[in-house]
Amino acid sequence: MRLARFRAGGRSGYGVMERDGVCALSWEPYDQKAGPDELFAAGEFELLAPVLPSKVVAVGLNYSDHAGEFGLEIPPEPLLFLKAPSAVTGHRGAVVCPRRSRRVDYEAELVVVIGREARSVAEADAGYHILGYCCGLDMTARDLQLADGQWARAKSFDTFCPLGPWVETEADPSDLAIELTLNGEVRQSSRTSRLIFGVPYLVSFISSIMTLYPGDVIMTGTPSGVGEVTPGDEVEMKIEGIGALAVTVE
Ligand code: MG
Repeated sequence: MRLARFRAGGRSGYGVMERDGVCALSWEPYDQKAGPDELFAAGEFELLAPVLPSKVVAVGLNYSDHAGEFGLEIPPEPLLFLKAPSAVTGHRGAVVCPRRSRRVDYEAELVVVIGREARSVAEADAGYHILGYCCGLDMTARDLQLADGQWARAKSFDTFCPLGPWVETEADPSDLAIELTLNGEVRQSSRTSRLIFGVPYLVSFISSIMTLYPGDVIMTGTPSGVGEVTPGDEVEMKIEGIGALAVTVE
């Protein structure tokens, strides 16, 4: 099932993607009680970010090839940071380059969406707490990240967290192709099997530190090939079995 948020006419809400459009749900996806109702055809709706997280937990240096391109050691434990939830935007949104930064980078990432509250969850039970997966771009003001010494500002400008296009609830995240193109040219291409810390481990590790709530997201890290964007660029990333997320840069 592909769970989305959408806007049509004057309303917005959750829906299930169907072949012909999106079926509005009279329920929130986190209390799966009722079925779909009204159908909006393609062209009648616009997709929003599929979740409104209370927090965005991100993992740095979680592909060995990406750690290598920055000449950094592979961390012994997941290296966590937070992105502001207000940075979230959706499919076909615009990433706005802040005036304060001279260098904004894309980072294509597999994103875990939490479905059930998770506190100190065992690795073996992680799946029970996961609603599904989506694509995510961990946009980064690289110059500010390096200058600041910690990453809150560099990772949290408005629009720096595109998520989407929907939450795929059926995917097995253990070995999926992940790819990013910049203006149609492939820049990142890897597989999620190359994650240093896999999804169940991350859910267990993070939930032992902070309670994860329904709708919270974990950005699992980016493979090698990160690079700069400039206004006018078209960025698209896709993950096998999940979907494709596209944004423009302003
Ligand atoms: Mg990242």
